[in-house]
Amino acid sequence: MLYTNRIILFLSCFIFVMVPVFANEFPKPSQEMIERVARLKVKGLTLIDYHIHLRGGMTAEKAFDWEQQSGIKSGVLENTGKDWPLSDNKKLAAFIEDAQRFPLLIGIQVNDRDWYKTTDKKLLAKLNYVLADTMIMNDETGKPQKLWLENQYAIKDVQSWLERYWEHCKTVVNEPITILANPTYLPPRMEQYYDTFWTEERIGQFLDAGIKNGVAFEIQSPSKFPKRIFIELARKKGAKLTIGRNNHDDHPEELKRSLDLLEEFNITPNELLVLPDILIEGSFEKYGNFKPEDLGFKAINKIVSGFQLLQIGFSQGTYEDRISFSFTYVEKEASNRMMKVFVSIYDKEKKIIGGAERILIDPRINVRNGKPSNMEFFEPISALSVSLNKAKNISHISRIEIAMMEVETL
Ligand SMILES: [Zn+2]
Repeated sequence: MLYTNRIILFLSCFIFVMVPVFANEFPKPSQEMIERVARLKVKGLTLIDYHIHLRGGMTAEKAFDWEQQSGIKSGVLENTGKDWPLSDNKKLAAFIEDAQRFPLLIGIQVNDRDWYKTTDKKLLAKLNYVLADTMIMNDETGKPQKLWLENQYAIKDVQSWLERYWEHCKTVVNEPITILANPTYLPPRMEQYYDTFWTEERIGQFLDAGIKNGVAFEIQSPSKFPKRIFIELARKKGAKLTIGRNNHDDHPEELKRSLDLLEEFNITPNELLVLPDILIEGSFEKYGNFKPEDLGFKAINKIVSGFQLLQIGFSQGTYEDRISFSFTYVEKEASNRMMKVFVSIYDKEKKIIGGAERILIDPRINVRNGKPSNMEFFEPISALSVSLNKAKNISHISRIEIAMMEVETL
């Protein structure tokens, strides 16, 4: 009896001490979230949360862990600008280096309007995306004001403030950004003017500017913006959409509002921004096989979740108008991941002229026992080729995107 009591005492200490530690370190998504993500993935959606700040205890490691648990890819970023954590290029370089320890998409949120002049171009090239919102605007004296801190600035004339804000929105959406976060935001005291200010015409102009500039628009989970009318018009015009959490801490965010709206609007795979893991841009003139660096591409292999691109190649098929594009890659470490690979090939007008998706498995895997094997006669390479029916000549090609998504573990 005494012995049993001791065991119970021991176990209760263990539970009290250990459970909170585990619970804090590795939060798990709710069953509801797991089921929703699975339903959306069945529809072919690639879900990426591009708005995970590494602040308030959130780290790249936790973002990667949450990606594994939730099935939603993580994009991590932090604020850059004079009064922000990444206030100079040195701090930005350290941020990128830290985040690169994990196979995540890496971005920045820009807050100064001259960010593209002051940020080191080499560092920008290492980033997968740049996100901005319209929530910081200069006042009449030229001083930047955080519009959500309403006691810090006055609005003397509503109409002229709204006009100024409209000009500001157009400035931001025309910057070389990838994602416009929290679109159609208004500070609380101006929300009453939402319907009269954000008319269909104005939203249309805003969307047109973004689409022309290659900008995607965010449906942020903790925000009430954008409203449904914006999403309706964005779909009509063919704008790309993203989801995001804009966290302030490391508590798990299940992106409830974002996922609600994706379901409600029955968003299709092509409507979401899916950034490629490998991006090759340039002019293509020669047939044959090349190492990525041989052709002087502008950007190669910016991030890849543990993969390295080995070779790309172009060949002319039996039919005169048929060109094949192929690539081979290697996984840095043998894994039992089953990857879905998407390839999209664009012409000079940014139109898709070829594409393929296929499931690939690391050939190093000895499937018999399900464990990685190091048998040397297996070439540790996977390959995929795409037939281009519409391109008569490789000189039409300007951009190749390769995205990989883990679909199942063997
Ligand atoms: Zn943010």
